[in-house]
Amino acid sequence: MSAKSRTDLADMPEPGAGGSGASVDEITDRILAAIWEHRLPPGTKLVEEKLAEVFGVSRTKVRLALGKLSHDSILTVEPNRGTFVSSPTVEQARQVFDARRVVEACLVKELAATAKKEQLARLRKCTAQEAEARTRNDRRAIIRLSGEFHVLVAEASNNAYLSKYMRELCSLTCLVIALYDAPGVPSCPHHEHDEIVDALEERDGERASALMVEHLTHVESTLRLELPGSAEIDFKAVFG
Ligand SMILES: [Zn+2]
Repeated sequence: MSAKSRTDLADMPEPGAGGSGASVDEITDRILAAIWEHRLPPGTKLVEEKLAEVFGVSRTKVRLALGKLSHDSILTVEPNRGTFVSSPTVEQARQVFDARRVVEACLVKELAATAKKEQLARLRKCTAQEAEARTRNDRRAIIRLSGEFHVLVAEASNNAYLSKYMRELCSLTCLVIALYDAPGVPSCPHHEHDEIVDALEERDGERASALMVEHLTHVESTLRLELPGSAEIDFKAVFG
């Protein structure tokens, strides 16, 4: 996916605003944007006919978009039941963060050596927009922009496979956050993004890499990823 079409996510009308003749990519992007902004929570059933009506397109196009997203594990097809927004388990959530630590540590290390001025400026612009969204307390924008920062890092690496993979991991992270977020906890603390850009500007790959790992561990630690049964349920506290 090109950088252009991804940036345009921000300007896209919400479903219901029409949009006849949308392409399969556009439908895919709009569903993804809704997932990123927690407008489509995990477990939501996606009905082809309804989406076709909302987007003003044929069911075939919707089916193709849903097929793409289920291929990327963002949606789950349950035989005889339908297509649902995936609900990653605690184990899958941990695997998503493990994968991100490995991939993103490598990405920023490489990026510190190769990043062009414009790419660094773009990352800085993203963190500035994020800070601005925070002042407005625009939660949807905060969630979207904090995910976008990581996709931008992947895109700057110029490795199409890695950026595709990162996009998938970021979407899964959004689902994980929607499921396991402790109420009131923000997603990515944005000053940590700024620190990563600082290290990239200083061309300090080791530091950028360490900061990224620390940052992802921090985000993971704000989630409530306890395996069922790992903690004794205090029924008195629950019902008292
Ligand atoms: Zn982040």
